[in-house]
Amino acid sequence: MASFEELLKESTTVHGHICAGQVIGVRMSMLALSLIGVQEPKGADRKKLYVIVEIDRCATDAIQSVTGCSLGKRSMKWLDYGIMAATFVNLASGAAVRVTALEEARELSKKYCADITDKYVRQLEAYKIMAEDELFRIEHVSVAIPPEDLPGRPLRRVQCSVCADWVQDKRDVMVNGAILCRNCSGGRYYGPLR
Ligand SMILES: [Zn+2]
Ligand SMILES: [Zn+2]
Repeated sequence: MASFEELLKESTTVHGHICAGQVIGVRMSMLALSLIGVQEPKGADRKKLYVIVEIDRCATDAIQSVTGCSLGKRSMKWLDYGIMAATFVNLASGAAVRVTALEEARELSKKYCADITDKYVRQLEAYKIMAEDELFRIEHVSVAIPPEDLPGRPLRRVQCSVCADWVQDKRDVMVNGAILCRNCSGGRYYGPLR
């Protein structure tokens, strides 16, 4: 596995800027991968790894950059929970850890880089050197990933009986005996132009 500095550089390029979230995301990923026994996330171990992220903010890009997991590969799942946490799963062994970035780390950063007056710069620099247990809470967990959420060919492809769109991966819903897509079953997030 590449060094912290190399991984941070790579994630900063992917993300578009350096920020505290990149430092947190890179360190969180490195820690989690070591705990679940994944050495080469983008090489020999790439099919073993699955990540569930609980927030769509800066650190998520760093997690994607370090792990190689992504929505498009179906090796990353985004749960819109608004929590700076992610669960890393070794699909081969079943080992999984949920890592949460601690809110207290913001305050604690003053202890490390007191000379830096800009809050955001201080956090960024402090997060590079703070101890793992000051930054993160780790839970060893078990995760049941539904087969339809895993990488691979779609387990089901059906046509919506209302709009005729095709729906993959069991995301269709049955309403009064009819197969509907989520848009047609009440989950429509867009509307017609007025
Ligand atoms: Zn950022
Ligand atoms: Zn439909």
